[in-house]
Amino acid sequence: MALDTTKIEKLVRELLIEIGEDPEREGLIKTPQRVAAALSFLTSGTRSDPARVINDAIFTQKTNSMVIVKNIEVYSLCEHHMLPFFGRCHIGYIPRDKVFGLSKLARLVDLYARRLQIQERLTEQISQVVMESINAQGVGVMIEARHLCMMMRGVEKQNSEMITSSVIGTFRDSVATREEFLALIGTRGS
Ligand SMILES: [Zn+2]
Repeated sequence: MALDTTKIEKLVRELLIEIGEDPEREGLIKTPQRVAAALSFLTSGTRSDPARVINDAIFTQKTNSMVIVKNIEVYSLCEHHMLPFFGRCHIGYIPRDKVFGLSKLARLVDLYARRLQIQERLTEQISQVVMESINAQGVGVMIEARHLCMMMRGVEKQNSEMITSSVIGTFRDSVATREEFLALIGTRGS
């Protein structure tokens, strides 16, 4: 589904006027176009189907070993302020008989991050989609992120980081599995 960028450009121009700007001044002439293009990209996950990303990237592999992909960069927009939050995502899973192609987990993170989000939901959506698409035995996802809506405004806490985690299947049921996950990603994920 394509966005009506002409409509968005018009709205951004009105927004500029409302905040006291002159949309005709040199630096702002093309701003509505640029904002529309940026918004279209940054919300593209809203209009994308995860099944199409996943489809060609699942491979049959009998293994019970934990797979970890850590430090996946996350850039998203908080739905309360439409300001960025960004950080790192760590994913662990124990397959049953299927595994993901390596780059696909990162693409899934992008797909869900390019929506208006809250960090908690983003974390859960990633764990759910990993669990469901390969029928994993268990999944753990942790996201560490900084929110510009907190850093630039409001409480103005520049160094606080929000950490969210979602554990399902064996990652929830087994303390040993959960501890293995946390040890492998490291408490600070680095
Ligand atoms: Zn916010």
